[in-house]
Amino acid sequence: MASLGNPQNTIAILNKYHITFQKRFGQNFLIDTHVLEKIITSADITKDDFVIEIGPGIGTLTQYLCEAAGEVVAIEIDKTLLPILTEDTLSSYDNVTVINADILSFDVTALIQEKGKGRPVKVVANLPYYITTPILMQLLESDLPLHSITVMIQKEVADRLKAKPGTKDFGAITLAVQYYAEPYLAANVPQNCFMPRPNVASAVIRLTLHKDRPVEVKNSALMFRIIRAAFNQRRKTLVNAINNFPEISLSKEDIAASIESCGLSESIRGEALSLAQFAALSDAIGARLLP
Ligand code: SAM
Repeated sequence: MASLGNPQNTIAILNKYHITFQKRFGQNFLIDTHVLEKIITSADITKDDFVIEIGPGIGTLTQYLCEAAGEVVAIEIDKTLLPILTEDTLSSYDNVTVINADILSFDVTALIQEKGKGRPVKVVANLPYYITTPILMQLLESDLPLHSITVMIQKEVADRLKAKPGTKDFGAITLAVQYYAEPYLAANVPQNCFMPRPNVASAVIRLTLHKDRPVEVKNSALMFRIIRAAFNQRRKTLVNAINNFPEISLSKEDIAASIESCGLSESIRGEALSLAQFAALSDAIGARLLP
């Protein structure tokens, strides 16, 4: 099968099967060979790897993954694309399985147990942008034995994932991602690399999962509750943001004392704290929450 990285071949498939792009599934297919190669090299795919692709579309990135990886499993929600993938665009590869499923309700743990065979497991995708955050958070929070996640996402989201404390892009998602992984911006990708063109600029980001967590915290669920409180009302002081948050019941005095016990000013805002400082604050608040 001819490479779909070549726009002419993509157009031929679109015409042959009368494909209309499903906006509700975030369908923007890649049509740039350099970007496709860049994704493969950024993810460092080798024949030793087991790759999970989310949303193969008509199989453009999947073809590159099949060439580079040991085995590929591609999970696609749009069942109308399945016959095109299995009978046409991916038919010459014997190391790929296509599954019709919604990644958000799919059991990735069971898939890895069944097919991973101890190989490095890498997730690679040109993600559907309408569910970028839920997909990333589900993959990270499920405690899967993943080596890395290399994904095309909106540039704006990529900037948030690798933001530093005190900047406008820094937020709850930054801290959540950095708790689980090391983000690396591999490439900026303009709109004209896709068909149809998305409304926003894109970027390829690689998240390499930490072997050990970068901070120690007694209760990570409490830490993420405090983080949500802080960014729920990010213009307020941290004391007030936590005090106003219904899921944390502690007196304002105890919140202030916890913040000060971490060497932080009572007037500080949550957006100024690093992950390590949120971890320390969580332990301080946790100690006061105990009976
Ligand atoms: N990988 C192809 C490429 O790079 O050209 C297509 C990428 S397109 C941005 C996103 C793909 O994800 C579409 O094929 C879409 O149908 C699929 N998709 C959308 N929501 C999904 C979901 N919840 N689970 C699995 N696939 C999904």
